[in-house]
Amino acid sequence: MNLQDYIAQADEVERAGIDALQSATDPDALEAARIAVLGDRNGRVKALQEALRSIAKEDKPAAGKRFNEARQRLESLHAERKATLDGGRKVAGANEDRSLPAREQWHGAKHPVTLVIEEIEDIFRELGFTIAQGPEAETEWYNFGALNFPPNHPALDAHDTLYLEKGGVLRTHTSPVQVRTLQKYEPPIRVLIPGNVYRRDFFDASHAPMFAQIEGLCVDEGISFVDLKSTLNRFAERIFGASRTRFRPSFFPFTEPSAEMDVQCGICGGSGCPACKGTGWIEILGSGMVHPKVLEAAGIDSERYTGWAFGMGPGRIAISRSGIPDIRILYDSDVRFLEQIAE
Ligand SMILES: [Zn+2]
Repeated sequence: MNLQDYIAQADEVERAGIDALQSATDPDALEAARIAVLGDRNGRVKALQEALRSIAKEDKPAAGKRFNEARQRLESLHAERKATLDGGRKVAGANEDRSLPAREQWHGAKHPVTLVIEEIEDIFRELGFTIAQGPEAETEWYNFGALNFPPNHPALDAHDTLYLEKGGVLRTHTSPVQVRTLQKYEPPIRVLIPGNVYRRDFFDASHAPMFAQIEGLCVDEGISFVDLKSTLNRFAERIFGASRTRFRPSFFPFTEPSAEMDVQCGICGGSGCPACKGTGWIEILGSGMVHPKVLEAAGIDSERYTGWAFGMGPGRIAISRSGIPDIRILYDSDVRFLEQIAE
C-alpha cells in the first residue's frame, strides 16, 4: 500500500470511528462501538495498525504518525463519552426513592449446635489445644479394635452400629481421630476433636441416628488424673459458670480409670428441680485416663507417656441451654425454630 492510500484509509477509519462513538447514547451501545472501533481483535484501528506492515520502509514514519493520531483521537473521544454516559447513570441513581421499604433479606446463621462447638473450641484453644478432624467412614479397627473394645462388646453389634456394605463402619464416636492423631504426631499432644457420629438409633425425642460429638485428648509425660480434673473443672466453670463439679466412677473400654463428670445444676443451685431431675446435678461428659492398650495400639510408649481424654455431646448442651424438649428439633432444620436461637 502506498502512503497516500494509507492516509486516506486512516482518515476514513477515524471519521467512521468518531461517528460510531458519538452516536452511542447509553453505556452498552458505547461499549459495542468501542469493540467495533478500538477492539483488540477485530477493531478497525487494529486493522489499520496491521496495514502499517505493508507500507514501504521510507514511508513508515509518516504513516505511523498518522496512525497514532487517529488512535489517540478515538481513544480520548471514547474516554470522554464514557465519562458522560456513566455520569448520566449516576444521576439516575440519585433519583431513587430511598424511603421505599427495603426488600426483606434472609440471612444465614449458625446452627445452635455449631455455636456450642465453637464456644467449647474457644475455651480449649486458650488451654493450648488444637482442633483435629478425621473421616466419618472408618475401619472397624480404628472405631473399635484400636480402642480396646473386646470383640464381643455389645457396641459392635449390628443393632447399634451402622456397618457399610463394602466393609467398615460409620464411626460411632470421634475416638478414631484420637488414634489417628496418636499415630501421626509425637507427644506432647493436646487436641480437641469435634465431628458427627452415627448410631443405629431410632429418631425420637432423646435419640438421633446422627449427632455431633466432641472429644479431647491430652498425652504427655507425667500426665495424671489431676490434669484431667483441673482442666475439665476449668472448662465447666467457663461454659456453665459451674461452681461445683463431681466425678463418678464409670467404665469405658478405652480409659482406665474412667469417670462421668457432673456439674451442679445452674437452675436450682443443687437443691433439685425438673431440669436436673431432682438430683441437683447434670451429667455432661465421660472421661478417664487413656488405657495403656490404646496408646500401645497407636504406637505410643505407654511406659513413658500417659494421657487423659473426654467426650461429650454438644447437642445436649444446646438443648439444656435453650430448654428444647426434643432433640429432633435440632436436626429437623426447621428454620422457624432455628431462627429463634440463631446468632
Ligand atoms: Zn436443678
